[in-house]
Amino acid sequence: MSKFDLETIPRINHCLLPTPLVPMERLTEHLGKARIFVKRDDLTGVAFGGNKNRKLEFLLADALLKSSDVIITEGALTSNHCLQTAACAARSGLDCILVLSDSSIGEKITGNLLLDQILDANIHRVKSSEDRKSAMEAIAEDLLKEGKQPYIIPTGGSNEIGAIGYILCINEIGIQSTTLNVAFDYFVHPTGSAGTQAGTIIGKKLYYPDMEIIGISVGDGKQGIISEIKKIISNFEKNWELNLGTTNEDIIILEDYFGEGYGVPSKEMIDAVKLVAKLEGIFLDPIYNGKAMVGLIDLITREEIPSDSNVLFLHSGGGPTIFSYDKEFGKKL
Ligand SMILES: *Cc1c(COP(=O)(O)O)cnc(C)c1O
Repeated sequence: MSKFDLETIPRINHCLLPTPLVPMERLTEHLGKARIFVKRDDLTGVAFGGNKNRKLEFLLADALLKSSDVIITEGALTSNHCLQTAACAARSGLDCILVLSDSSIGEKITGNLLLDQILDANIHRVKSSEDRKSAMEAIAEDLLKEGKQPYIIPTGGSNEIGAIGYILCINEIGIQSTTLNVAFDYFVHPTGSAGTQAGTIIGKKLYYPDMEIIGISVGDGKQGIISEIKKIISNFEKNWELNLGTTNEDIIILEDYFGEGYGVPSKEMIDAVKLVAKLEGIFLDPIYNGKAMVGLIDLITREEIPSDSNVLFLHSGGGPTIFSYDKEFGKKL
């Protein structure tokens, strides 16, 4: 028997859980095919919510267990992960240093970057994403010399500890599924640095074997994400002495929906964001959920997801980045 037990893993309970799981009635009616539900992880509670909140419950607990006093993490200037890390660290009484690289969507002080500054986050700016890792390591070394205990969280909080947040999410969905008396056939979510999908795949194996997980890439190459997912799952299995029997068929990633690249707006994304806002009163971010929704709509329309199925969409947060897309969505009055 494995030692893995969600109840006993060190965790900081800073999320508002379970997040709501509700039907998208008007979007379902509009498309006229599969029944669509949404898991509202944009409502996890800290700093406008989002999927990194869940990962950080376990990552920050691990940091505290290791007597760390300062968190270092990385992302682009507009990073959702960095804002959520800075906010979650703050409420755990930990210092936080953000190593931020230039972003393709500009450097206007808005959205996450503005919120980072309200938190007085300690921002260390570098030019390109390739410079971030070495910058984090150099900062950690200096802090060690000063007698501090730094804890480095990788991009997106994506490792075998952060992924536990999404194992828990699938467990939660299993319980909500019973309460709602709905069996979900598909779970569709945006995928970037692989931690969310590694977690949802492990969660599926453990708690919801009949639900297919579909990751929609928001700009990264599929092969790179697949190898990251495999690495995280294998580290997880080693840590907990488990063999989940994951095969290549369990790792589904679609890369047809991100248009010209990460963060680059596409006409389909703009249409999908506006459609969901107008039908459901729910705002999807342009970088992740807007593009994942393009994928969901296409799969349902083409009946790749059959019309008699129940499909659950993960709203993974990211709301503050909407404000960087005023050129795409705004109109002069
Ligand atoms: C980070 C992020 C994702 C992707 O999660 P990964 O674990 O990096 O794959 C999806 N949506 C939003 C809003 C995010 O910030």
